[in-house]
Amino acid sequence: MARKTLKLYGLQHLDILRHYRDISDRALHEFSVVGKVLPFRVNNYVLDELIDWSRPDEDPFYRLTMLDRRMLAPADFDAVDRAMRNGGAGTALADVTAAIHRRLNPHPANQMTTNVPLLNGSGVSGLQHKYTETCLVFPSSGQTCAAYCSFCFRWPQFVGDRSLRMATDESQRFVSYIREHKEITDVLLTGGDPLIMRASVLRRYIEPLLGPDSAHVTTIRIGTKMLGFWPYRFTTDDDADDLIRLLEEVVQSGRHLAIMMHISHPREIETSAARDAVRRLLSIGAVLRSQSPVVRDVNDDAETWRELWTSEVRQGIFPYYMFVLRDTGPRAFFEVPLSRALDVYRGAVSQVSGLARSARGPIMSTDMGKISVDGVADFGGTRIFVLSYVQARVAEWVKRPFFARYDDAATWVDSLQPLTSSDRMFLSRPEPRLARAHH
Ligand SMILES: *Cc1c(COP(=O)(O)O)cnc(C)c1O
Ligand code: SF4
Repeated sequence: MARKTLKLYGLQHLDILRHYRDISDRALHEFSVVGKVLPFRVNNYVLDELIDWSRPDEDPFYRLTMLDRRMLAPADFDAVDRAMRNGGAGTALADVTAAIHRRLNPHPANQMTTNVPLLNGSGVSGLQHKYTETCLVFPSSGQTCAAYCSFCFRWPQFVGDRSLRMATDESQRFVSYIREHKEITDVLLTGGDPLIMRASVLRRYIEPLLGPDSAHVTTIRIGTKMLGFWPYRFTTDDDADDLIRLLEEVVQSGRHLAIMMHISHPREIETSAARDAVRRLLSIGAVLRSQSPVVRDVNDDAETWRELWTSEVRQGIFPYYMFVLRDTGPRAFFEVPLSRALDVYRGAVSQVSGLARSARGPIMSTDMGKISVDGVADFGGTRIFVLSYVQARVAEWVKRPFFARYDDAATWVDSLQPLTSSDRMFLSRPEPRLARAHH
């Protein structure tokens, strides 16, 4: 197979857009203003094989990766624009963007403070241990992606503010932590995208978990969007064979290897490059699962999800989670009300084979756990949301229905009103004391 070379394009290459579409100087300038605040990166695969340039403004991948002035509040847009015109580089611009970042809730679900575990009394950076059995690892060289989704809740890691970053140091203390904690069955390597790393670097994170002192780790999961953003990672990249060999070693060690794929839209898995990648991963015994948020004008309709789940099952990918967009970054531009996300989920799930009904959703991943919006019901004349935890900090809460007043406009748990006093507990933020309740 002919080898493709990944070419990354960021703000400094905006002119390349002129090659693909009609775009005015003014629109390019607006793009670069927003790019001072939000991350931007595309690559040759996204540009040449995903985006349909005959109608870019309606294209899901254009919406997913490109920037738009409406992603910033008008006053914020003007402030950045003004700072740029006043000579650009100085501290004024940096101060303006830093202030905007702080207002965009850079750390939803308190991930910096409540989930960092301790080893011998000091925090293990780049590790998150929120649910007893699953531990998240953020490899320091995997905190970037082959392209960026503009809505991404990991955005602080991409915009270069070091204090907002969260990643392992190279000391590998995470390995000691995992070896000591026998309750951990699942290790999830996440990012960014850990598969942006060379296979030889990824090996340093995986190999230490395959030995006898990590026998309690029965599942290695890898969260990635490479299938959508650079499927050649698995097939023709110069170290693709090394990557596949490493993944195969996980399977041969008797463990479950789960590739947790972020897949936004059916077109993403229908290119021949993506199909080849799926076939190769399945051939080594990897289990492929998919998850994605519902994003306005990218995939906020039932037909898209019906097609997505159907196409996934046909190719051997298990539909896993449909998420609600997190309360961070330019959410106002992308968010979908909970009621609408539920309609999309029900509309899709009711039209597919049972094999495609393995997706749970819509799910909010919060401080307290993963909350599923199970339905809307009538409770003695009051319209309510029926909710439940599918994953919770307090294990006891899983699968116990609770209720909130129906609200057409609510897009996140923080705007829901508990129906009764006994529902309040499920909807309030954790006490600091509860933060590591399972220890
Ligand atoms: C979703 C998630 C997990 C994994 O949960 P599963 O239900 O086992 O897939 C682990 N840790 C965090 C912080 C999560 O958000
Ligand atoms: S691929 Fe995932 S981590 Fe990377 S930008 Fe998109 S949502 Fe964020």
